[in-house]
Amino acid sequence: MLNVPSQSFPAPSSQQRAASGGRSKVPLKPGRSLMDWIRLTKSGKDLTGLKGRLIEVTEEELKKHNTKNDCWICIRGLVYNVSPYMEYHPGGEEELMRAAGSDGTDLFDQVHRWVNYESMLRECLVGRMAAKPAVPKDCRVEKKVLNGMLPKSQVTGMLAKESPTSPSYDWFQTDSLVTIVIYTKQKDITLDSVIVDHQFDTFRAEIIIKDYSYLVHIGLSHEIQEDFSVRVVENVGKIEIVLKKKENTSWQCLGCPLENHNSLILKKDTDLYYRKCQLISKDSVTHDTKLFCLLLPRSTHLQVPIGQHVYLKLTIAGTEIVKPYTPVSDSLFSEFKEPVLPNNKYIYFLIKIYSAGLFTPQLDRLQIGDFVSVSNPEGNFKMSQFQELEDLFLLAAGTGFTPMLKILNYALNNISSLRKAKLMFFNKTEDDIIWRSQLEKLAYEDKRFDVEFVLSAPTSEWNGKTGYISSGLLSEFLKRSSDKSKVLICICGPMPFTEQGIRLLHDLNFSKDEVHSFTGL
Ligand code: FAD
Ligand code: NAD
Repeated sequence: MLNVPSQSFPAPSSQQRAASGGRSKVPLKPGRSLMDWIRLTKSGKDLTGLKGRLIEVTEEELKKHNTKNDCWICIRGLVYNVSPYMEYHPGGEEELMRAAGSDGTDLFDQVHRWVNYESMLRECLVGRMAAKPAVPKDCRVEKKVLNGMLPKSQVTGMLAKESPTSPSYDWFQTDSLVTIVIYTKQKDITLDSVIVDHQFDTFRAEIIIKDYSYLVHIGLSHEIQEDFSVRVVENVGKIEIVLKKKENTSWQCLGCPLENHNSLILKKDTDLYYRKCQLISKDSVTHDTKLFCLLLPRSTHLQVPIGQHVYLKLTIAGTEIVKPYTPVSDSLFSEFKEPVLPNNKYIYFLIKIYSAGLFTPQLDRLQIGDFVSVSNPEGNFKMSQFQELEDLFLLAAGTGFTPMLKILNYALNNISSLRKAKLMFFNKTEDDIIWRSQLEKLAYEDKRFDVEFVLSAPTSEWNGKTGYISSGLLSEFLKRSSDKSKVLICICGPMPFTEQGIRLLHDLNFSKDEVHSFTGL
């Protein structure tokens, strides 16, 4: 059992205060932590009031359940009685009540679409929304067998005017290979826009095109080998995925379409896809932070783009728990040496273990060879933010350092206009500083880079900068290389740090376009 402290929850430092949508979190009463909720759901108590029965819910019925003590909410067609959950909701009762008696899918997605509500609210499930009889007129039915014709993709969700041209796909074969070709008709497609997985006969290729996701999702007609190759012809946006047949027979068709096959969907409306990755190593970096190395399956192609994170999923006390983490490299310097190989199969994470936390102690208990599920990447950092960049300023606190690594690497190695890159790294004590000597070495070796450490709880021996983020620290640190230089300031850390930092940057007259916050503020 976890030793959950009884002071106000979440603790000031807890990520549970930091919703990615920038929503503030409320203190929960003692005994109302996520772990307490999991315990309640396992207690066998009837949480829906329906004694385990599942019902069909009409819109009229849903609307009736709109009070705190009788609150039903619909998320993606499933209706939950969330009254028992009210006191456990990190965002507070008011936030939940905003969706009372109605469809809360959009509200839910805005704040935390990655939270595994199916697992968390399983015992609160009342039933499904009753289907509406009307069928949209332009609903097209995909052919049941994919025979190599160029099918037109279905564009689903709210189709915005600026949505990309619908991609399409085709396939051809030789005796030993099957090549799936995807025509995105976009020029900025790179290898990290392509995520491919196959398991048994299921093949899944997701292509990220701006805010959209195009999916090729097929139950293959024949078996293939585990490994495959992916190639992107960037100037025309063509993607070739070459699969190896298990047997050299001629395929009559590629296979059968599976869910959302050949459709272009707004990324925010897609489900996160997970694959199981094996823990290869776990090494201490500081007294409480470890470098975890996970091995992707051979049947996965996944590269996490700069500035993005993934979700790790573990089952804790029978409930799936998901938390976001930002991939890094195995050391500061391999960021600068190794090119990211297309077949790079390792993902590294720097993760702080909170002894009273829910997820990280469990992660830390994994043995080498154990598995953890890793999602597709997410994040709103745009590569265009690097364009003509001259001054890069990184404000990181604690593990908020993690997204800065790839940003720094990319800027120093690829942005010819860059004049300086400076990191101000806020920590409690010297012992908390991640990769300190590597940072100092880099500052020594690359004259464009500089690092300053600021400690909020230093020992008496520390003679460097001290305190929390402040206007004094920032105005001294954020000196442009010239009056009109193109600046990017990245900020990441505990929510109060980021909130305060953004306020101070605004007061110092930096524009919104010049500031990127990784916490969605
Ligand atoms: P939590 O359960 O959230 O607990 C955190 C703190 O709250 C602990 O100090 C714990 O003691 C305290 N606490 C817990 N329960 C209670 C209670 N009932 N009463 C009082 N105090 C309590 N982290 C990294 O280490 N590396 C990364 O690369 C990284 N990337 C991230 C990327 C994003 C986009 C975001 C949003 C967060 C990222 N995080 C990262 C943070 C990470 O997602 C988790 O929030 C973090 O690992 C804490 O998880 P936990 O479940 O172990 O702790
Ligand atoms: P920590 O508790 O060790 O604190 C590090 C520093 O943050 C402190 O020394 C202080 O300077 C500053 N700080 C802490 N509380 C503050 C407050 N109330 N006001 C002003 N400054 C404050 O940090 P940690 O435990 O390593 O936590 C790192 C945080 O960064 C977590 O909340 C994590 O979720 C977040 N994070 C976010 C992302 C992301 O959004 N992409 C990535 C990694 C980490």
